Amino acid sequence: MLYIVFTTGQCNLACKYCGGSFREDRVPWRVSYDPLKLKRLVEKDPHAVVAFYGGEPLLNPDFIRWVMDNVKAEHFVIQTNGTLYRSLEPRYWLRFSTVLLSVDGREELTDKYRGRGVYRRVMEAARYLRELGFRGDLVARMTVTEDTDIYLDVMHLLSSGVFTNVHWQLDVIWSDRWRSFPEWRDRSYIPGLRRLAELWLKSAEEGTVLGIAPFKAILSQYFWGIYGSPPCGAGVDSFSILTNGEVVLCPIAVYESWSRVGRVDELPALAPRHLVGEPCTSCSYYHLCGGRCLYAYMERLWGEEGFREVCLATKGLIEIVLGVAPRVRELLEKGVISKEKLYYPPFNNTVEVIP
Ligand code: SF4
Ligand code: SF4
Repeated sequence: MLYIVFTTGQCNLACKYCGGSFREDRVPWRVSYDPLKLKRLVEKDPHAVVAFYGGEPLLNPDFIRWVMDNVKAEHFVIQTNGTLYRSLEPRYWLRFSTVLLSVDGREELTDKYRGRGVYRRVMEAARYLRELGFRGDLVARMTVTEDTDIYLDVMHLLSSGVFTNVHWQLDVIWSDRWRSFPEWRDRSYIPGLRRLAELWLKSAEEGTVLGIAPFKAILSQYFWGIYGSPPCGAGVDSFSILTNGEVVLCPIAVYESWSRVGRVDELPALAPRHLVGEPCTSCSYYHLCGGRCLYAYMERLWGEEGFREVCLATKGLIEIVLGVAPRVRELLEKGVISKEKLYYPPFNNTVEVIP
């Protein structure tokens, strides 16, 4: 089970996507429940994954230290904007299995949405972790907008040589509507994904599996069936614990009643809830898409037609990945690439799979 643990509702940035901190009355900026309750919950689970989240989790490094010193978990993960990397000592950094750094691609794009100087700081954090000897999965976590050129921005991050994987989320449904999502999807995103897939396959032919997380994860699902619905596990094998001890199904759905299920010391709160139904369960892409994002499925803030437009982006991505799958199978059978290199994510590390 994945436990997404909020350390604070506060953020030190005010990115255009989410605007910064949560309201303090909803997600307090300090942990206000007894952390021993978290310890009791997590330690009942022999395969617990604890992922620190916020706000910006590094605004509360004391809580991170306490949890890592006192709570037994199979894996520790952190999702951070990277700007405060000095607030945690190297010995803690080296214990993470996965570190996800928020960066959107090229410098001008990242800084346009996240603030001036953020790109440099996050790349500095990434290099710092590598210099420390961090050998875990260092994931560049992109938010994708209509300014993104998916080919250029993914390649920019991959070719930096510091990230093991690049993942992205489309800034859709919870954001304001784009100028024209369908136009961007058809003229920029899908052609860019095709180029990325060509390059990915060429590289696989030479024995190298490029760390493009959605490609690897969809192929892993296709070959080995590694995730369910939704692919992020929200409400099924992933729960989020807010700083006030409340449990929600998805870490961004902190206000929505469908997401609020109980408190950290109430075990029934963590009983799986399968909320994704139609139109997903009858969709021919469901076994690979899993209904995409539970929040988007439940909220549909762009209406039915907006939901369908996003589905076309998902279906386009899946088609492109399925297009390379037969050749990838041959490469696996011939031993040109290995299952170990392709299999992703190896555990639920908060990479939600479907952008
Ligand atoms: S493509 Fe759309 S309808 Fe189909 S499973 Fe995914 S989210 Fe549901
Ligand atoms: S993919 Fe959607 S439902 Fe899943 S954690 Fe992210 S926002 Fe929540």
